[in-house]
Amino acid sequence: MEMISIIVPCFNEQENINIFYEYLIKIFKNMDCDFEIIFVDDGSQDKTLDEIKKLSNYNNKIKYISFSRNFGKESAIFAGFEKYKGDYVTIMDADLQDPPELLIDMYHTIRNELYDCVAARRITRTNESKLRSFLSKKFYSIINKISEVEIADGARDYRLMTRKMVNAILSMKECTRFSKGIFSWVGFHTKWLSYKNITRTNGKTSWSLIKLFSYAINGITSFSDLPLSISSLLGILMCLISFIMICIIIFKTLIFGDPTSGYPSLICTIVFIGGIQLFCIGILGQYLSKVYIEVKKRPMYIIKEEKI
Ligand code: UDP
Ligand code: MG
Repeated sequence: MEMISIIVPCFNEQENINIFYEYLIKIFKNMDCDFEIIFVDDGSQDKTLDEIKKLSNYNNKIKYISFSRNFGKESAIFAGFEKYKGDYVTIMDADLQDPPELLIDMYHTIRNELYDCVAARRITRTNESKLRSFLSKKFYSIINKISEVEIADGARDYRLMTRKMVNAILSMKECTRFSKGIFSWVGFHTKWLSYKNITRTNGKTSWSLIKLFSYAINGITSFSDLPLSISSLLGILMCLISFIMICIIIFKTLIFGDPTSGYPSLICTIVFIGGIQLFCIGILGQYLSKVYIEVKKRPMYIIKEEKI
């Protein structure tokens, strides 16, 4: 019998573990395949690990990896990919925002229609703040325009994949990971299934606007070098503008004998150019910091305990 591995990154999800488990068990009763659930406890500070251990003692299909601290969802996904044993693998949030019943469709599609990946995409953003939805939409439209990867608006990490595809993902060893970009970058034949947004079962999202912003910057710097080209172009543009201004001043002085004047305008110009320079150095810094992190080759996660 074929087996599906379900990787569940968990960060402070103590109230959701049991509900998630019960829900999934019901789903698999209607499916003709075996399964294993790998909970990845990403340094939770509540009783998440205890809840997982209780389930694991009771059902040997429940496995877990527990990190020594919070390494982030991307590291949790990577750890799961390295350890799973099934024929297919999927990633699901512990808060049931990724509808488990979709897995039935995903499994039939991947087996019968010979896809390498069947991915979920939410088509509504109900109960999400207007600002968050707006910024997310903008981010997806920008990254699709400026990078080599194509990410569908509303695309989730929730997807069923073949081992062939996961091996390709594992061959990308970068520490600063942006999974949505990586899934698209490795290629393979992907089918999209749509669903309406579901709100979190218990607890609250761990993504603040600042965290989301840095995630977006990560995504852009990981898959596009256009910001670097823009900063060079800005430099060229500034040179052109200053050259035109010098010509105008010389012309005015020679023809009209008009002495150059204007302390405030001078200060404004200096501050403006200084701002552009710092902005461009900032862009450069973003890329440099990524290089710095990559060359250190630190492990993506450290395991405190596991049962695999
Ligand atoms: N998560 C994690 N590590 C983190 C943050 C989140 O493993 O540092 C897990 C979290 O427990 C959940 C999933 O990643 O299962 C998605 O997180 P969340 O629900 O907070 O994000 P959202 O659904 O709001 O995008
Ligand atoms: Mg969630």
